[in-house]
Amino acid sequence: MPGKKQKSLTMEKGPIWDSATKAQKVDIERISREYIDFISKAKTERMVTADIVKMLEKGGFKHIDKVKSYRAGSRIYVLNRNKNVAAVVLGKDPLEKGANLVAAHSDSPRLDLKQNPLYEDGETKLALFKTHYYGGIKKYQWVNIPLAIHGTVIRADGESVDIHIGEDLDDPVFTIADLLPHLYKKKQADRKLPHGITGEELNVLVASLPFQDKKPKKKVKYWVLEYLNKKYGMIEEDFVSAELEVVPAGPAREIGFDRSMIGGYGQDDRICVFTLARSIRDIKSPRRTSIALIIDKEEIGSDGATSIKSRFLEEVYSRLLELKDSSYPDRLLRMALSNTKAISSDVNGAVNPSFKDVHELTNAARLGWGICITKYTGSGGKFGANDASAEFMGLIRGTFNKAKVPWQTGELGKVDEGGGGTIAKFLAELNMDVVDAGPALISMHSPMEISAKSDVWSAYKAYCAFFMMSP
Ligand code: MN
Ligand code: MN
Repeated sequence: MPGKKQKSLTMEKGPIWDSATKAQKVDIERISREYIDFISKAKTERMVTADIVKMLEKGGFKHIDKVKSYRAGSRIYVLNRNKNVAAVVLGKDPLEKGANLVAAHSDSPRLDLKQNPLYEDGETKLALFKTHYYGGIKKYQWVNIPLAIHGTVIRADGESVDIHIGEDLDDPVFTIADLLPHLYKKKQADRKLPHGITGEELNVLVASLPFQDKKPKKKVKYWVLEYLNKKYGMIEEDFVSAELEVVPAGPAREIGFDRSMIGGYGQDDRICVFTLARSIRDIKSPRRTSIALIIDKEEIGSDGATSIKSRFLEEVYSRLLELKDSSYPDRLLRMALSNTKAISSDVNGAVNPSFKDVHELTNAARLGWGICITKYTGSGGKFGANDASAEFMGLIRGTFNKAKVPWQTGELGKVDEGGGGTIAKFLAELNMDVVDAGPALISMHSPMEISAKSDVWSAYKAYCAFFMMSP
């Protein structure tokens, strides 16, 4: 615009740490410590949901079943199958004017136990669990590392039993044994990387001692069954009605001499889940209703009743409208959804200095440069992408700038390099404006994903600003 003075003609982005104030550096450290604690403990979607509900209750959120009515500022949460939670801070405007919604996913790539997982190898007399990997993993990364098992078993008597083994220092851990280099030349050395370890080789070592009794044939397998029965009241058939997840054992750690980074499992997308939950807990009296939504099954394509494709979000809106008027017209629900502005809060891939050429570096996210706004994901010519509109990008950028949130933009890799998707396009199906925004990670989907502490803080600030936005 001629005559209008612009701050800077060029877009200059850089590390947050370069321009952070002393007070901001203290905040970065504080929120990162809380986050490290969170991801060290919450290793499954159920555990994430339970921890977030605890955080919400401490922050004054009430389960919707206990709520008779609400007014501006009321704090409510809705739970779905112990795997989804929506936290709501009611705005001054009525819900039909739309909400500011931020949605993240609680599931992370992992190894699930098969329905009939336990077997004893006849030659070696070792007992193992068969697994079926969940989500996009590079399978070779999951061998020879300590693994923990977390999950829920529904026993024949209907009782639900939680199992958590491998996180306490006194606990045993489990592992998947790779082939020794001395003998791998013919069998493994010429395999292509995706098949370096195959799905059926991801067998978890669980026992080697025989059961001290002459009767059972498979003595080591029987030892495990006897142990599980004594400890959890389980029988072998109970595995059929169980969700047992094998995940990297141990806590997340600070990385580097300067402790500026965080390494740990499940940061995609729990870095967003955490910062999102913290921000909705901390905001006060927004003009528009704020909703933090935590969903499941993103890593396997968002199918299933706990995924974003289920109607849980509509259910949340509907229950809120019902609290005002039990016979609200359907039009009101449609308006509320259509007028909602949404962030799909998910991670992007930060440039890895050893593999820079998969990115086009003028449009790639850097670790520690702030929350990454990703206009589109998809692959092969934006196929399968939610391509956010210029208008909505303008609103988001303006909101972050006004709140002095450090941000950057990035694509997921070079054009034609690969790609990926998020839940953004499924939110868009409800006729919402939506864009992806979340921290960028190095080594995404690995047992040791890497984030920057400063990006945790940036995401928190960004979601706070978005919730308070009144377009
Ligand atoms: Mn993700
Ligand atoms: Mn992912």
